[in-house]
Amino acid sequence: RHPLDQRASDPSKKTLVILGSGWGSVSLLKKIDTENYNVVVISPRNFFLFTPLLPACTTGTIEHRSIMEPLRNILRHKTTAVTFYEAECTQIDPVNRVLTLRDNSEIKGDIAETSLPFDYLVIGVGAQNTTFGIPGVQENACFLKEIPDAQKIRTRIMDCIETATFKDQTEDERKRLLHMVVVGGGPTGVEFAGELQDFFEEDLRKWVPEISDDFHVSLVEALPNVLPMFSKQLINYTEKTFKDEKINIHTKTMVKKVTEKTIFAEVTKPDGTKEMIEMPYGLLVWATGNAPRSVVRDLMTKIPAQAKARRGLEVNDYLVVNGTEGIWALGDCAATKYAPTAQVATQQGQYLARLFNTMAKTQALEEDIAHLEELGHATASMDDKKAIAAEIEAKAKTLRRSKRLMPFQYTHQGSLAYIGSDKAIADLTFGDGNNLTSSGQLTYLFWRSAYVSMCFSTRNKLLVIMDWLKVKMFGRDVSRE
Ligand code: FAD
Ligand code: NAD
Repeated sequence: RHPLDQRASDPSKKTLVILGSGWGSVSLLKKIDTENYNVVVISPRNFFLFTPLLPACTTGTIEHRSIMEPLRNILRHKTTAVTFYEAECTQIDPVNRVLTLRDNSEIKGDIAETSLPFDYLVIGVGAQNTTFGIPGVQENACFLKEIPDAQKIRTRIMDCIETATFKDQTEDERKRLLHMVVVGGGPTGVEFAGELQDFFEEDLRKWVPEISDDFHVSLVEALPNVLPMFSKQLINYTEKTFKDEKINIHTKTMVKKVTEKTIFAEVTKPDGTKEMIEMPYGLLVWATGNAPRSVVRDLMTKIPAQAKARRGLEVNDYLVVNGTEGIWALGDCAATKYAPTAQVATQQGQYLARLFNTMAKTQALEEDIAHLEELGHATASMDDKKAIAAEIEAKAKTLRRSKRLMPFQYTHQGSLAYIGSDKAIADLTFGDGNNLTSSGQLTYLFWRSAYVSMCFSTRNKLLVIMDWLKVKMFGRDVSRE
């Protein structure tokens, strides 16, 4: 037991610290047998967030609390108490095996920063939004990763609309304020653009008819098409649906600079020449993918084996962070050959739970065998010696089997995305890598039922269904908070 470890409830057990309360860490927590370790969870967020429905929170199609599940509720179902600290881990010392924690919430007590030793560590801190260092993005854009991001976007949409309709507003300014730009044609950008256009078509047009001619959604993507991870057929379907919905798609357009009111982007024309264009905007949502969090970047600099790591912590086939012992990484903070998705993080969490459960079993078997060997030496009777030897052999066989842990293997079940106007796209994989693509309104029904069934709890499922019904009956709420 580490000398600093005051809180470990059972000194005979190893302390396993899990960072994060997202897809990876929660999937591990659900399946791990907490009897075997002193489990401590650290996260600045005391809830699990069902990210696939976050784009719908930006327009009020779904209320944010419907997709949050309190971590305390998840932990209270574990057989042995799990300690939770609402804090951000700011530093990881892989040599002395100590973490630095900081309480970053508004209310602070006498102690806002402290340290915590660990025997085993699982890093599941996710990622932050990348801006590629493009000037003006951090200061002027909204992002879409956490609940406060969605709340900020929801408020900004209505603020732009109310300001655009202010008495005597100039025409140019009204047009600018009503131009909603999404940068990044990955699934986050596409789903948000679809949700926003739905909000306009189904509610804003009715409640604020004076914006009808000037409200526009634009999607800007550097590559020749949106959704590069989906099949060509679904990319074409999405681009056609966006065209029909009147969402402007600007492909081969790379944003280079952003100011308070204007986006500067470089367009590659069909003849290969480049041209700089200016786009005045009211709302800018930036969705160009992930970058490692500062705690992860800092850890990378401390481990020579991570010198070449860029996208996140490099791990081996068992998810052990290269260059460390007893430190694992999962989900978006790990750089693997898989895409940073909830599906991957969940399967990695399940794998690590199996690994920790097996490790505990292995340890118990090793202790049993050592004890039996001592007994064997101590006894004089040949019959007893034989019986003990047989028991040792049986346990050794089980031990050999449980030590043969397979490396992590990902099973891709497919990708789903909502693209607006009650349409979704699905790239499904089944059997031996067979593929099925589907799109349209039936796929949307499938998307809805799949995501409701995946919501964390029955409470979440009911709340999401009720939100959908509420919007169908009364429309979305257009008040600005
Ligand atoms: P996260 O779920 O992001 O969790 C990270 C956790 O770490 C959080 O609890 C955070 O508070 C905590 N944390 C952060 N910093 C620290 C720190 N310093 N110390 C301790 N804890 C920390 N994937 C899909 O497969 N399907 C989808 O439909 C889908 N939709 C998405 C929609 C949106 C809008 C977004 C943003 C992502 C979507 N994804 C989807 C991707 C998916 O959400 C991520 O791949 C997934 O969340 C990764 O899980 P994770 O556990 O690694 O990280
Ligand atoms: P992404 O990395 O998938 O896409 C970002 C896009 O931004 C890319 O297409 C890139 O070319 C573009 N881009 C980058 N810089 C640009 C610039 N300067 N100007 C214009 N375009 C630029 O990012 P994401 O959509 O945030 O997704 C992150 C991860 O989360 C992915 O792995 C994704 O699969 C997953 N996710 C999945 C779903 C789903 O399955 N429905 C939904 C959301 C996110």
